[in-house]
Amino acid sequence: MTLPDFQVRDRDLSDAVLTEYLTSEAIAVDTETMGLLPQRDRLCLVQLCNLEGQVTAIRIARGQTESPNLKKLLEAANVVKVFHFARFDVATLRHHLGIQVQPIFCTKIASKLARTYTNRHGLKDVVQELEQIELDKSAQSSDWGNAANLSEAQLSYAANDVRYLLSVQQKLTHMLKREERWQLAQECFQVLPTLVSLDLLQFQDLFAH
Ligand code: MN
Repeated sequence: MTLPDFQVRDRDLSDAVLTEYLTSEAIAVDTETMGLLPQRDRLCLVQLCNLEGQVTAIRIARGQTESPNLKKLLEAANVVKVFHFARFDVATLRHHLGIQVQPIFCTKIASKLARTYTNRHGLKDVVQELEQIELDKSAQSSDWGNAANLSEAQLSYAANDVRYLLSVQQKLTHMLKREERWQLAQECFQVLPTLVSLDLLQFQDLFAH
């Protein structure tokens, strides 16, 4: 099936796009919210991209508590969900839409484990080094609550946050295997749902002395 390179949807994925995305072995995922606290700040937008580079942005309505097709995709065992700093996105998706995301790949954790020659692990830095692409992050802190009237700049920013993730994932996977940290990376990804449970209960430093 041929999907457009970028489409905006309300509330959920269409059945057709869900079917197409379920055939991808990996899907890049990002969210935009009103802020950094899931209990306080609502989820406004969920962006997805498959290996063919087909981006979908789903506008989440105020008060919306479920997104059935999105849930099917994000819980599908045979599709790896790739995030940059999964800890936040997985928490907000669970809190607002009841989605238990799995399996997970986090490009920020992968970058920290593989790129030990730098302390620059923001998405912009990682994309710049691995893809030689300059991401424009100027819309990062903007009003995502006005979903019906998102600007061109906001939508293009939102799309770019998922457009390069799968290529970054492949390069980081290669580096992790080369440095013999692939197993450790997978173990880190597997504890993310537990970490998210603790975060949502507002436990801090549970493992500290
Ligand atoms: Mn983003």
